[in-house]
Amino acid sequence: MKAVADSLWKQVREDFPILAREVHGRPLVYLDNAATSLTPRPVLAAMNHYYEHANANVHRGLHTLSAEASEAFEQARDKVQRFIGARGRESVVFTRGATSALNLAARAWARPRLARGDVILVSELEHHANLVSWHIITKETGAKLRFIPLADDGTWRIDLLPELLQGPVKMVSVAHVSNVLGGINPVKEVIAQAHAVGAKVMIDAAQSVGHMPMDFQALDADFLAFSGHKMCGPTGIGVLCGKAELLDDMEPVEGGGDMIVHVGWEESTWNLLPYKFEAGTPPIAEAIGLGAACEFLGGIGLDRVRAHTQELTELAARTLDGMDGVHVYGPLVGRLGPVAFAVDGVHPHDVATLLDGEGIAVRAGHHCAQPLHTKLGASATARASFYITNQPEDVDRLVAGLQVVQEVFGVR
Ligand code: PMP
Repeated sequence: MKAVADSLWKQVREDFPILAREVHGRPLVYLDNAATSLTPRPVLAAMNHYYEHANANVHRGLHTLSAEASEAFEQARDKVQRFIGARGRESVVFTRGATSALNLAARAWARPRLARGDVILVSELEHHANLVSWHIITKETGAKLRFIPLADDGTWRIDLLPELLQGPVKMVSVAHVSNVLGGINPVKEVIAQAHAVGAKVMIDAAQSVGHMPMDFQALDADFLAFSGHKMCGPTGIGVLCGKAELLDDMEPVEGGGDMIVHVGWEESTWNLLPYKFEAGTPPIAEAIGLGAACEFLGGIGLDRVRAHTQELTELAARTLDGMDGVHVYGPLVGRLGPVAFAVDGVHPHDVATLLDGEGIAVRAGHHCAQPLHTKLGASATARASFYITNQPEDVDRLVAGLQVVQEVFGVR
């Protein structure tokens, strides 16, 4: 059984041409998947095919190339819809990424509906995309942010939820998987309790879609935001998935081509969903690439993707935490992707630079989660993040690399 699994992941790795390259004379170990994942051949081929065979704008032309481009673009929407279990294609709004998706819902749903004193509940581990987008809204509306606190192990104090949901809580917007602590958050529980008090829920699924099975209808969130480039797709494309009745009731944020039915001198009428929110020429090749990424991951199986990623993440978290002078932030189990850590006596930027010299790509900094780092008592952390292109040997290489770091700094 294990041999079958090993050969599957070996085969998966062969689809990523970049894994053949060396960095500083060493075979690349790519552990920065939480920032962006690598891109497999079928995704590259789908985007190339568009540029080589059907390079035209969508929805506007009557000529063959435009019709083919439109068909490929809309088929990509259908692939995304099936991939995340949305009820209909009108729920799938293409955006520039998770950040744009979160901001779109904040502006189009929350801004007109929130008033002074209303509450938006987020958690202490949010990415800036799900925090600063709300700072803009609270500034404009007088609404306030409230935070689900973290326990010492970096998990949510879910026991406090009934208390946190008291009062005029209109929106709950939380991460499914933390991009620093890696914990899989109990969002289903949050959605049920938030709905019971009449609040809407948005899930920042930037680190979960494409990493584990996603069923938008079963989850029953009101909005779901994610990026293509963290799930084997290209940059420049993401999705805001929303319940159709909510999207229908929202006004567009951007005006321009494609999002209208009729334009007069003084006013216009909006197009149907999802086009109402897709003003201007969309990222066509990118959407097609995202559709191909859904097929690629679906072909492997999202249960397998999750099991493999979680196994490696937890192996890395356990192993690093067991090293002398190395500390892992966040839970050691129930962890998917990111492993943020500290090496005693070495700045995280030096850790990342020295690991790069060993051919190992990790990230260092606050990972767009500054308030979380304040809570952790660290201005920066180093972060290794795992995905389907990784293998157990990568954990060995990381450990060996960290030993080099400790030797160079004389902290071993
Ligand atoms: N939320 C989370 C949890 C993330 O990890 C990221 C990306 N690091 C984002 C939102 C924003 O994604 P993007 O930069 O692709 O818009």
